[in-house]
Amino acid sequence: MPSATADRRHPSPSPTENGMSSAPDPRPELVCLDLEGVLVPEIWINVAERTGIEALRRTTRDEPDYDVLMRYRLDVLDRHGLRLSDIQDVIATMAPLPGAIEFLGWARERFGVVILSDTFAEFARPLMRQLGWPTLFCHSLMVDGDGRITGYRLRLPDQKRAAVRAFGDLGFRIIAAGDSHNDTAMLLAADAGILFDPPQSVVDAFGQLPVTRGYDELRAAISAASTRRAGSGCDDEPRA
Ligand SMILES: [Mg+2]
Repeated sequence: MPSATADRRHPSPSPTENGMSSAPDPRPELVCLDLEGVLVPEIWINVAERTGIEALRRTTRDEPDYDVLMRYRLDVLDRHGLRLSDIQDVIATMAPLPGAIEFLGWARERFGVVILSDTFAEFARPLMRQLGWPTLFCHSLMVDGDGRITGYRLRLPDQKRAAVRAFGDLGFRIIAAGDSHNDTAMLLAADAGILFDPPQSVVDAFGQLPVTRGYDELRAAISAASTRRAGSGCDDEPRA
């Protein structure tokens, strides 16, 4: 076993605090991605369309307070007698956004990739299968013996930002992308934060974040944000 003292978090040359060192930043890079709106469609909107319950169309784009939004959703499900299996049936008919599988493959060839989502493990499985089981950090549902969703369990409050900060503490450089209000904290905490197909309200409120539309632009923005571009070009260079 290598000795603990040989295990340095930042190998030489060390990055400077202001990032202006002429030496390349040696930290390995992680790409943190939101799920809904970036790789897959909005789950709740699909449930609304298939069930005809318009009230379920509200998303984090409309209601920035996630707890308020979730209590509202669970209330609506209860009033209509919908159970977890009903929603899972809908999710099983969904597919990743066109181009998402190829984009994710591109990213995983070049970076570590972690998906940070405010969805629930019980909802995500059919979509994760189609995406090739990438790493997903999300939340979980509380379900009673009859399959009724009684509540939800946040693994950690503000988990997207907490994950980005923790990855930074582990010596990674973070490039993050997301589409909505619940992503902005992680985008601002990342070394580089990128908006992907955001609603205008998010663009207006977070003008400091670059905006991308479509996977070609997102790939280009990630490549531009990567320190690996200083070499022979991130776009053409899958990691070894
Ligand atoms: Mg989203």
